[in-house]
Amino acid sequence: QCDPKRFLVTGGAGFIGSAVVRRLIETTSSDVLVVDKLTYAGNLDSLRPVSANPRYRFEQADIADAAAMRRIVTAFAPDVVMHLAAESHVDRSIDGPGEFIQTNVVGTFALLQAALEYWRKLPSQRKDGFRFHHISTDEVFGSLGATGYFSEETAYQPNSPYSASKAASDHLVRAWHHTYGLPVVITNCSNNYGPYHFPEKLIPLTIINALEGKPLPVYGKGENIRDWLHVDDHAEALLLVAHKGVTGQCYNIGGHNEATNIDVVRAICALVDELAPNPSIGPRERLITFVADRPGHDARYAIDAAKIARELGWKPRHSFESGLRQTVQWYLDNKTWWERVRTGTYRGERLGLAV
Ligand code: NAD
Repeated sequence: QCDPKRFLVTGGAGFIGSAVVRRLIETTSSDVLVVDKLTYAGNLDSLRPVSANPRYRFEQADIADAAAMRRIVTAFAPDVVMHLAAESHVDRSIDGPGEFIQTNVVGTFALLQAALEYWRKLPSQRKDGFRFHHISTDEVFGSLGATGYFSEETAYQPNSPYSASKAASDHLVRAWHHTYGLPVVITNCSNNYGPYHFPEKLIPLTIINALEGKPLPVYGKGENIRDWLHVDDHAEALLLVAHKGVTGQCYNIGGHNEATNIDVVRAICALVDELAPNPSIGPRERLITFVADRPGHDARYAIDAAKIARELGWKPRHSFESGLRQTVQWYLDNKTWWERVRTGTYRGERLGLAV
């Protein structure tokens, strides 16, 4: 166990990264530096709740820029690097895999090298406390049949360009530990949902389209199964691993909430009907539109999160039912946030917000 005070968070303007940063600033006394390129997925609006705090800083940079990573890591002198920056959307990886290789593989390599160079020069006391925490996905394990779960021992079998690039980055992180001794921890988690989720992903897209009476696209027959994890439960687990995780170890993080895509979409329809009734739209289930399946679409993901429960005492607080209700309510209450994403305003103003 270490007592880190300085967190460098890559991808901190993204969906999960911003939840981690808000939590770090709001519930600890740590200093936080967000390093983010601000791609389409980076949104400084998601950091507004903490951006005036003097313990928060932001630097716009590309993790694949090796010189910038060396400069930033050395200047900030972190106790922990939490690495969340990535290209993260499977559909985009099918249309254009190049960016995924560049950021997820080359970028992780550049960050590892910067961290290693910095870590080697630390005095021995701080050296022991340092952590490079790599945040990854359960998609690296491939697809499950109707039964079974992904454990930390499951063999890697990535199927999409996205999951292959994340698998490659996991292997680099593992190798930097075994070969160079860099103190790393790796976490692989299931599908996240919750507030501040970019509207291209299934849950926020469905909520917003349902509100507006637009078609609700569902791949294939909607039978693919995902294990849904509330982003705040994930952020809590990540901070626990960053503080107490054993170096060289991997931890799976899951929500114990398996659901087919069609059931998720139907549940959202019922919630939107209840919380935002609109007689001119009628029952939202009528808006469901089945579309051609995603190529290579994995059938089922499900996480066995017994290790992190047993060794670190973590378990998710949200049931899917309560978490989904809270998420739908958040999108109803925060229309400005998603309107600014849809219109692109969030990108135009971003430099003005940077600290
Ligand atoms: P996201 O797409 O919402 O955010 C990614 C962030 O990384 C953005 O702020 C973006 O600007 C930044 N970024 C992208 N390329 C960059 C680069 N080259 N240099 C610096 N910054 C860059 O992603 P997310 O959903 O928050 O996911 C965060 C991490 O968690 C990713 O590594 C992802 O693989 C992993 N993960 C996500 C999920 C999920 O359900 N969202 C599940 C499992 C694992």
